Amino acid sequence: GSVLVLTDLKDLDYRLRRQMLASLGVLALSLLIAFLMTRRLQRAIYGPIVQLGNAAKKITEHNNFSIRAHKLNDDEIGDAIDAFNAMLGKIEQDKEELTRLAYYDPLTRLANRRMFSERLVFALENARRSGEQMGLIFLDLDKFKNINDELGHDIGDLLLKATAKRLETAIPETATAFRLGGDEFTVLQVGATEKSMTETAERILQAFGEPLILAGRQLSISSSIGIAISDGHDNVSSIMKSADVALYRAKDAGRSNYKFFHQA
Ligand code: GH3
Ligand code: MG
Repeated sequence: GSVLVLTDLKDLDYRLRRQMLASLGVLALSLLIAFLMTRRLQRAIYGPIVQLGNAAKKITEHNNFSIRAHKLNDDEIGDAIDAFNAMLGKIEQDKEELTRLAYYDPLTRLANRRMFSERLVFALENARRSGEQMGLIFLDLDKFKNINDELGHDIGDLLLKATAKRLETAIPETATAFRLGGDEFTVLQVGATEKSMTETAERILQAFGEPLILAGRQLSISSSIGIAISDGHDNVSSIMKSADVALYRAKDAGRSNYKFFHQA
């Protein structure tokens, strides 16, 4: 047998074209939806990640851990940014603690020898440039070993703490006190004259002379003080030597007094 199909080719062609156009329309719409969704995703994920990366770069470049990344959305990436910022806060705290340990004496909380060395270089350079004199005091407690030997190291430590407090309150605002170690302290004073350094030394001796009660005992402290003044033409070792020579002259002269270094 046989089947005879009669059809209008024009109609077939028209339908095929319509179907093709519909398919192209669906394809274009799918592409548009995909494009819009990618843009949204980009904004939601890519933006915050780029921002986080920029913040990390800036922190490294400026070595500044107080910079924070901005939280843009309240989502998983927002949580990651919160965690990143919390980590920065912890690093900042640890950094401060390390600086404190490196530059401050843990017993008296005064700045230590390392800070003193850096400040002395700076003060000499400043005196040379500005023409203003700077004063350096070397201070050593008198017969401090006796306190340790007779009353113990703990009372000795309390006395060092009390000394640091008195020293800080006795010096003017233009001066800074440091503990070099043991019973040795220094003071750096800017804009110094022989008159102002005399006043500072006398105020220190007077402050140390006040009665001191520690662990229920009345103790007395005294110190010997050596003073050197520089117009900035000294170097670190020459001014330190001068103050040291003056200190030992004060010790030799019977302690509990101050002496200036004079070239002669
Ligand atoms: P001088 O008048 O000649 O200075 O006599 P001095 O006994 O004070 O002698 P010196 O300055 O040489 O002694 C300092 C002592 O300080 C020696 C050491 O036992 C003591 N010392 C050093 N560091 C500390 C500390 O951190 N705590 C205590 N309690 N004592 C310390
Ligand atoms: Mg001493």
